[in-house]
Amino acid sequence: MSLEVAYGQAIDALVSSAIRPKRAHAPTDMLHRLHAAGAAVVNEPMPLAAARHLVERVKKDDAVFLISGVYDPIGLPYGETDGPTGVASLARALDLGIAAKPVILCEEQVMEGFARAAAAAGLMALRDPAHWRQKAHSVLLLPFPITAPEASVPIAERMLDEHKPAAVVSIERIAGNAKQRHHYAVGTPITSEAYLEAVAEAANRRKIATVAVGDGGNEIGMGNILERVWELVPFGRKCVCDCGDGIACVTKADVLVVANTSNLGAYGIAAAMGILLRQPRLMHDRAMEQRMLEAIASAGCTDGGFISPSVDGTGDSSLAIVELLHKVTHFACA
Ligand SMILES: [Zn+2]
Repeated sequence: MSLEVAYGQAIDALVSSAIRPKRAHAPTDMLHRLHAAGAAVVNEPMPLAAARHLVERVKKDDAVFLISGVYDPIGLPYGETDGPTGVASLARALDLGIAAKPVILCEEQVMEGFARAAAAAGLMALRDPAHWRQKAHSVLLLPFPITAPEASVPIAERMLDEHKPAAVVSIERIAGNAKQRHHYAVGTPITSEAYLEAVAEAANRRKIATVAVGDGGNEIGMGNILERVWELVPFGRKCVCDCGDGIACVTKADVLVVANTSNLGAYGIAAAMGILLRQPRLMHDRAMEQRMLEAIASAGCTDGGFISPSVDGTGDSSLAIVELLHKVTHFACA
């Protein structure tokens, strides 16, 4: 076993252990089994495979699309806490490690959480592509309109034409089943979201590198293990809305990362990039994690209905996990 794989396994264990509250709607071993399903289709620990995919393809000044966000005007008017800090951490690793140019795509309504998380990670969030191109350590905010799937495809194609990303990374982006319908984990529909999977699917058609992180089965990338999601995830095969087609997302990615929360999965990729590039600082530290969590709460991002610096009900446990990821990355590079 190579040193990279040995430390990659430690990273994978830290980000995929089920350190989380019990869920009323899901069996306790769901995460473990979903993780095993994802691990079975790659030949090394998933976060390491994703990091390698990016490091081998993304070069200095290349745009990298980061797709995330969930929008519901009543339930999640400013989005949720799973997504923004993962996006910010990975954007930081791409910026510091490769000097790549991160672009954040989500609905306009939930953009603020991403902008504040990026700022807490040391990256300036800009709206003007010309300014973003010139400004080091910045991210471009690229809102995606909420419109029908067929109208979203040409918008996605134009965005790829304009920015020519070297990779498209999806982090906790709920996306459609075969009937192009979006669902919460409890099987109910989300009708207020953009059809952002059009970007990931267009990237797949163009053979642009795609990476996806998910934790529940209804996110982009779960198409890689679709039949396992149908088996393992409650409402995976059959939802409670009129579409009846289940919450499992059909959209695929070159590399899928399954993790305890999607933020942690993204941190795992950043840590593995740090190991591959021999730059341990690519993994953010505990103090930055605290700042990012406070930043997204200040933007109104919610966890379980409350505005809170917590992700998927895990309280402050991400602080300890980040501290250990930081240590693993430093041990690997020493
Ligand atoms: Zn449905």
